[in-house]
Amino acid sequence: MSSSAPVIRKVLVYPDPRLKQPAAHVERVDDTVRSVAQDLVDTMAAHNRCVGIAAPQIGVLLRIIVVDVSSHPKAEESHGRLVLINPRISDSEGSAIGREGCLSLPEITANVKRAERITLKAVCLDQKNLDVSTSGFEARALQHEIDHLDGILILDRAASAAEIFPRVKSTKKGQ
Ligand SMILES: [Zn+2]
Repeated sequence: MSSSAPVIRKVLVYPDPRLKQPAAHVERVDDTVRSVAQDLVDTMAAHNRCVGIAAPQIGVLLRIIVVDVSSHPKAEESHGRLVLINPRISDSEGSAIGREGCLSLPEITANVKRAERITLKAVCLDQKNLDVSTSGFEARALQHEIDHLDGILILDRAASAAEIFPRVKSTKKGQ
């Protein structure tokens, strides 16, 4: 990764049509892919408590995601920062409902049913194949970001309108 100044990209907000489009398979890890990955890392870091971001959210329709739940209190299991190209869930087990937010849906949260444990296959920035098995909050974050690559949002996953909630904004001064 380069050490140049961080590039914070604008995050697309629903109903931007690019959020509903399937992203393309990455054929080769080249400079463009590395640059998009770095922008995702930098853009995620600029958002407080953000645990994941997918390339379509910055308007790039390629199958690249970044997830890092390591500093989140709900994460019992963490692989640190995962930069994943062409991630694909190869196995999953169990199901659980949990509350999710999304940078592209700043006004709401939703209860979403996800697998409790997943195994995924992906390619890393060094072009090596990677298998990740994880559970709980990290598995949930990965499923959320992989959904973005198929144009699926938490609005689409919520079982009914009753499972969608307005995000409560803090009214404290200085926040
Ligand atoms: Zn999202």
